[in-house]
Amino acid sequence: MFARHLVALVLASTVAACAGLTGCATETSEDDSNDPSTAAPGDGTSEDAIVSEHSLAGSELPDHTLALSFDDGPGPRSKELADYLASENIHATFFINGKNVPGRQNMLAAELAGGHIIGNHTQNHIQLTNIPAAKLMSEVTLTDAFIAEVQPNGPWLLRPPFGAWNGAAARTINATPMSKYVGSVFWDIGGVLTDTAAADWDCWGKHITIEKCGALYMNEMNTRKRGIVLMHDIHSNTIDMVKQLVPQLKAQGWKFTTIPEVPSIKRALANVSAATAGPDACSSSTLGKSVPANTCVQSRTDQKWHRCENKEWVDASGSADAKCTGAKYPLTTP
Ligand SMILES: [Zn+2]
Repeated sequence: MFARHLVALVLASTVAACAGLTGCATETSEDDSNDPSTAAPGDGTSEDAIVSEHSLAGSELPDHTLALSFDDGPGPRSKELADYLASENIHATFFINGKNVPGRQNMLAAELAGGHIIGNHTQNHIQLTNIPAAKLMSEVTLTDAFIAEVQPNGPWLLRPPFGAWNGAAARTINATPMSKYVGSVFWDIGGVLTDTAAADWDCWGKHITIEKCGALYMNEMNTRKRGIVLMHDIHSNTIDMVKQLVPQLKAQGWKFTTIPEVPSIKRALANVSAATAGPDACSSSTLGKSVPANTCVQSRTDQKWHRCENKEWVDASGSADAKCTGAKYPLTTP
């Protein structure tokens, strides 16, 4: 009964956030779960699904806590935004479209240098829920190549265009190496423009001022009290709005966290690392995830190298230790 009620709530918020977006998904994960023919093989433990059939959002965040996210970039002013947020000690997640990366690699570098996270928003920003599986996978893997090059240790976060998502898309991805991704990363604030809430792209399309759009975002934040915030760094007005909003939010006592710290997403990230690390895995507090046997990690606490062996950390002589046959994680990349 409770579970069913929860699904209904998730669906209601999905529909609301999609309202007005052309091509928004109408499929529902509830329909999928009621149809035995589409059940995943070995179904029964949610841990099986790294990319969840359901959307992950920020309703469990503490009161007055936000996780900022920016979609559809990198854009011409993404570096400026990344630098600004870093100067405010705010770390956002940038869900990029691979098609926008060529010529703007410096934007990704600035995002990483600012301590931000880069997520996958697919290559061409097309709806994933009504395309063939091969096309869906190319949309995810092409952008993954850009991300893996600059952020090789993850985290791997996926947000589908329009938030359009269903069980079939999740199962397609989970059957491939892209199952390293956690998602669908949804949002709580910024999905739809109304009299009391905002969506930046819709504000600018309707020539609403930066001040008015920012006030609508603030209003929605005060109503919901917490959550993942959706904006789009491809739009110049959005960067100006963020620079107005952040000082106001701080003055009102709002705190900022990151998407990997959002409880539902934190749990999913832990599941993915446990599932991919194997039975002899060790948990690394330095990396914040589990790693397979013979992985070597330089500890943040004592700066010494340690190797994972049979679920235990043993001493290693350094990154050149011959027994370090797996991945090596120095504290600072050379
Ligand atoms: Zn988008």
